[in-house]
Amino acid sequence: ATDALTMLANRRLFDEQLRDQVEQARASGQPLVLVMADIDAFKAYNDRYGHPMGDACLKAVAGALKRRLRGPGDLIARYGGEEFIAVLSGASLQTVHGAAERIRRGIEGLNLLHATSSTHAVVTVSIGVATMNPSAPGATTTRLISAADEALYRAKNGGRNRVVAMGMDA
Ligand code: GH3
Ligand code: MG
Ligand code: MG
Repeated sequence: ATDALTMLANRRLFDEQLRDQVEQARASGQPLVLVMADIDAFKAYNDRYGHPMGDACLKAVAGALKRRLRGPGDLIARYGGEEFIAVLSGASLQTVHGAAERIRRGIEGLNLLHATSSTHAVVTVSIGVATMNPSAPGATTTRLISAADEALYRAKNGGRNRVVAMGMDA
């Protein structure tokens, strides 16, 4: 259930916890906000600095995420190789957008040199944020995750090292 490198929850545990979170949000009428973060030009980082340095970078980024998302109901996980996912319940899209922006800045502020990045001189992340009213018809976690993924894609396309937030039907 725990990712050995970052000590964050893994994808399986996250998916499980997300289902519970949705139930709770439905019961309380609160929205769910999902954050998806992906390290920019991470393949180039591994190619330039080697896999052990890549692993250290992953740990540092995971640490920065953990420090900034520690509300009692916050879920955070390593979702894939260099991809992280978090869910905050009861927070507005604006609040989470602000938190995501602080995360982005915090990771840039780690100042991990990245000489071969296509866009920046240091390690950065792109972040997609999406929100959903879990009681709305057709609201599913799959759709929430794809909305965040779409926002992340726009952040990448917009030049990376940025946060893009959107509603489900945006
Ligand atoms: P983008 O800015 O579009 O996100 O480009 P990217 O290079 O970050 O994305 P891509 O998906 O091409 O590369 C992801 C890289 O992440 C490739 C893989 O070697 C690396 N990676 C995945 N898991 C691990 C890991 O556990 N350790 C290390 N060191 N590298 C990993
Ligand atoms: Mg990726
Ligand atoms: Mg990446």
